[in-house]
Amino acid sequence: MLQVVPVAAFKDNYVWTLRNASHAAVVDPGEAQPVLDYLKREGLQLAAILATHHHPDHVGGIAELLRSFDVPVYGPKNEPIATLTRPVAEGDSVSIPELGVEFSVLDIPGHTRAHIAYYGAGSLFCGDTLFACGCGRVFEGTAEQMVKSLDKLAALPDDTKVYCGHEYTLANIGFAKAVEPGNTALAKREEHDRKLRAEGKPTLPSRLGDEKATNPFLRCREPAVIESANKYLGARAADPVRVFAAIREWKNKF
Ligand code: ZN
Ligand code: FE
Repeated sequence: MLQVVPVAAFKDNYVWTLRNASHAAVVDPGEAQPVLDYLKREGLQLAAILATHHHPDHVGGIAELLRSFDVPVYGPKNEPIATLTRPVAEGDSVSIPELGVEFSVLDIPGHTRAHIAYYGAGSLFCGDTLFACGCGRVFEGTAEQMVKSLDKLAALPDDTKVYCGHEYTLANIGFAKAVEPGNTALAKREEHDRKLRAEGKPTLPSRLGDEKATNPFLRCREPAVIESANKYLGARAADPVRVFAAIREWKNKF
């Protein structure tokens, strides 16, 4: 039975660890030590490393993991990650026979130039592109690319489990409330996620259907979000890319 376990790294990163009784694969190991500790404690062999994008808080632990385990390292073909051995892009799939899982690779540029996601077994590992109730900053791509990437993720089934790279949920909900104060699904989500954090539990994975109902960055075509974006802009825009760019900029300063 495949399990997905969050191994905490740094202040608010999650190294998602897929495991069965004998093996594990890790997504975005920014740090090696917490992963090595977990594997040792659980008596697991590492089978693969998957990276979503080149930022150090996602790939910084790979070299050290490779000193203990000789495993394939999957990651975006068009980003500078020195430790990659299996560069992949959309259309490719990643199979981890030790765990009996296979993922398809999706190109989701915007946060970085060639950011990818892994989708399989009803789960989405999306790094810093889609966050719970938020999205990553647009560092290397354009707002247009980010909207396309988010649309691509939003088209997956509603019951998809969303495993993103950081525990940013409560702060993201705070901003989402400023954008959509009348969203009742959002109010419910806040209550639910606050409770989880108070118990020291991750708010992740979330469900894609809940993201579509509460995440303002997936709701750039909703009248209430358009209205708030226009208020922020002091202009009238209904184009989803302009609406997205406005709320992204607003969030950067929030
Ligand atoms: Zn990042
Ligand atoms: Fe990150």
